Amino acid sequence: MTISERELIQKAKEVSLNAYSPYSHFLVGAALLTESGAIYTGCNIENGGIQSICAERVSLGTAISKGERKFTSLAVVGKSISDPYFVKTLPCGYCRQFISEFCDPSFRIYTYDEKTDQISSYSLSELLPHSFQFKN
Ligand code: ZN
Repeated sequence: MTISERELIQKAKEVSLNAYSPYSHFLVGAALLTESGAIYTGCNIENGGIQSICAERVSLGTAISKGERKFTSLAVVGKSISDPYFVKTLPCGYCRQFISEFCDPSFRIYTYDEKTDQISSYSLSELLPHSFQFKN
């Protein structure tokens, strides 16, 4: 079974409702698709310090902890808790670098604007053209 972009967006929307975001009041959901067709989801989890965790890293961390290593795409959606519509939401810089540890430059990242019903699609290399590479 092939997972469509819309199915991945839908999973991200569903999990965003579990977000713990008492500070930003911004709900984010992420749905990560593996090469084998499994989906791992995550939501943002904030706290009163600066150690909040983004939805993207929660989804990747969950997948990695289950032994997954090969990923094809990620859907990210976000909305203000007081807004009825999801708005285009892309991974922060920290998450882009984190994703680049496990994913090829061709890895796809989707986001969704609910008002216009538009899905936007980017490659990881478009969002992070010059990632940090550890050299020793
Ligand atoms: Zn992030």
